[in-house]
Amino acid sequence: FVIQQFKNFWDEILNIYEDCKSFDEGDPADYIPQLARANRSHWGVSVCTVDGQRANIGDTSIPFCIQSASKPLNYALAITLLGAKTVHEYIGYEPSGISFNSIALNKENKPHNPMINSGAIVTCSLLHTDLKLADRFDNVINEYKKMAGLEFIGFSNPTFLSERETADRNFCLGYYMKENGCFPAGTNVLEVLDFYFQLCSVEITCESGAVIAATLANGGICPLTGERVLSTEAVQDTLSLMHSCGMYDYSGQFAFKVGLPAKSGVSGVILLVVPNLIGIAMWSPPLDKLGNSCRGIKFCKELVHKFAFHNYDSL
Ligand code: GLN
Repeated sequence: FVIQQFKNFWDEILNIYEDCKSFDEGDPADYIPQLARANRSHWGVSVCTVDGQRANIGDTSIPFCIQSASKPLNYALAITLLGAKTVHEYIGYEPSGISFNSIALNKENKPHNPMINSGAIVTCSLLHTDLKLADRFDNVINEYKKMAGLEFIGFSNPTFLSERETADRNFCLGYYMKENGCFPAGTNVLEVLDFYFQLCSVEITCESGAVIAATLANGGICPLTGERVLSTEAVQDTLSLMHSCGMYDYSGQFAFKVGLPAKSGVSGVILLVVPNLIGIAMWSPPLDKLGNSCRGIKFCKELVHKFAFHNYDSL
């Protein structure tokens, strides 16, 4: 086993979990009712090692929307399907330094990176362009299921409808990018935006999220099924950009303090990857001012403090 003393490891995780439980800061996202109604006391942590040891504490089997944590998965799928060279003809590599939903492109008129809305919408435009929208969605959901080792993957239609209803800024961004030639020829912007909203509305649990994170930690092979879902190249590139761009405008500080690739979403989820070791999913709806889960961030900091998982702790 990659973690020999799993019981001891898990006991420490339980301590950190308890410590964060009483940390009642922040507020759930309120731009759509489905998120505003979230229970602020929900708090779950699941882990899955690259050799399939798993453990869960708290609210780990309650479905929630994946939201922006879909972005790295879609990007990894795009690279697996098309290769990094093709994907990066459309998308850059740099942190944007501005809000995730800003209407802005880099100097080459491309989205700054695939972890913010502009880049994520363009990523969606690259996935299975030869298929009808329904089949594109089916296809990506099936890949999510494979990443999750056939653990829970759902879909919240109310969230999708609310996302679309309140998405003026994303529509604006879509047309701005169309004007700037950001999409492949023949792209239907409205269809791509629907696809993006749908993939944000996919439901996971902490339990399935940890397996997805472990598939990334394991270089693209799901630890539960042994199936290769993503290419090694795709996972390397995805983890690199999660490391520099995965935590909204906290990404630089997160890279400094935690030093691990992660992606958060406005539902209060954080997927955290310790390469070659473990995937962790955290979920707690109250968010800080930058849009990251308050309990999740605290957990990540305490985790690296306890276990020296920071990328440079080995020096
Ligand atoms: N779905 C929302 C949007 O696209 C928020 C995604 C997120 O988690 N930041 O604006």
